[in-house]
Amino acid sequence: MSDCLFCKIVSGDIPSAKVFEDEKVYAFKDIEPQAPVHIIIVPKEHISSANELTDENAAVVGHIFAVAAQLAKELGFAEDGWRIVNNCGEAGGQTVGHLHFHLLAGRNLGWPPG
Ligand code: 5GP
Ligand code: ZN
Repeated sequence: MSDCLFCKIVSGDIPSAKVFEDEKVYAFKDIEPQAPVHIIIVPKEHISSANELTDENAAVVGHIFAVAAQLAKELGFAEDGWRIVNNCGEAGGQTVGHLHFHLLAGRNLGWPPG
């Protein structure tokens, strides 16, 4: 999608600190980190939000969780623990209209979220 921030990050039109990439997903460091590790993982396909997920396009979500688990092991926080978050819609705190998951680690994460 031409006017989508995360599509532009995936294509390289907007620079980002890449952490991981394969044919289906792209992962990069959040510009405003909320924890020592704060990585955004997105499908390369433009999906506006979790509201748009269906049986036809949702397989990428399972892949994103597998990528998160792989990064947790490689980056060394699998043992300590981590969190993956999706914000959906305005009340859910979503500010960028391209499905994405926040991978957070490196400190004790509070619950419930704000
Ligand atoms: P949301 O609030 O939609 O769940 O998450 C959007 C996230 O994208 C925020 O954590 C925000 O800091 C991050 N973000 C927004 N613009 C940019 C950008 O241009 N580059 C990077 N790396 N992260 C961004
Ligand atoms: Zn997009």
